[in-house]
Amino acid sequence: MARRGLPRAGVALLAGALLVSCRGSSGSSGPGDADTAVTTPGPDSADCPARNHLAAEFNGRQRIGVEMPVDYAFLETRPGGCVPLRFNPCEPVHYVVNSALAPPGALDDLQEAIHRVEAATGLTFVNDGPTDEPATMNRPAAQVPRYGKRWAPILIVWDHGAQYRMEPTNPAGGQSVPVDGVRVSGVLIINVDATAQDHGRSRPANGFGEGATWGRVFIHELAHIVGLGHVARSDEILFPELGVQQGEAVFHAGDLIGLRILGKESGCLTTPDPPTR
Ligand SMILES: [Zn+2]
Repeated sequence: MARRGLPRAGVALLAGALLVSCRGSSGSSGPGDADTAVTTPGPDSADCPARNHLAAEFNGRQRIGVEMPVDYAFLETRPGGCVPLRFNPCEPVHYVVNSALAPPGALDDLQEAIHRVEAATGLTFVNDGPTDEPATMNRPAAQVPRYGKRWAPILIVWDHGAQYRMEPTNPAGGQSVPVDGVRVSGVLIINVDATAQDHGRSRPANGFGEGATWGRVFIHELAHIVGLGHVARSDEILFPELGVQQGEAVFHAGDLIGLRILGKESGCLTTPDPPTR
């Protein structure tokens, strides 16, 4: 199978836009679409969560005529353009970790980042343990031989980014996979060859300090995975250039609003049944 490349990222950009397969991201209806009935407000309604909050870029492409939202942005919506695509917050979000190439301290930062995303969303992440699954583009959302008859857990994997056309200035890329209007799986690739040209460093530092530290990278990318896109305010974690950010890497007001809307507060969804083979 041919490998599809990542879009080229600019200096210090965290594109977060892996070209993984995105089945059912629009158009198809299913059990998960129950709350997009005719009463759902349209994209211009004041009651519409995605009104003025649709990401200007998605999958490395610009949405024509959409300006980058200021404080929080949703990567995708259900048909109708109003309801953001998200995980079912009433079930755990499972993940596996391939840390064969992870640098020292990386797993601690990842764990802390997951805690921060859980606190902001009300989602529960469950670590299904280590895996030797390699990073791949177009990762299938179901892999019955490896993970059984369920949606594949999110794969978090460290690798050499050049294999995925990730520039050294792009420390990670991640995306989740929606099926029938519900996010069910995903992948996060961390570039072990990433460089940082900020705060006098040549490599991202461990922890959650200033600039493109690994902690900041993780919370930024995990926010992409749960459904947030880039914003214009430079003090929000979803600002595309992390190297310029000051202070501890914590979610700010806009980030927190977006994450809350993507989480438990917006109620349960019906997760579509996974393929059985
Ligand atoms: Zn990003």
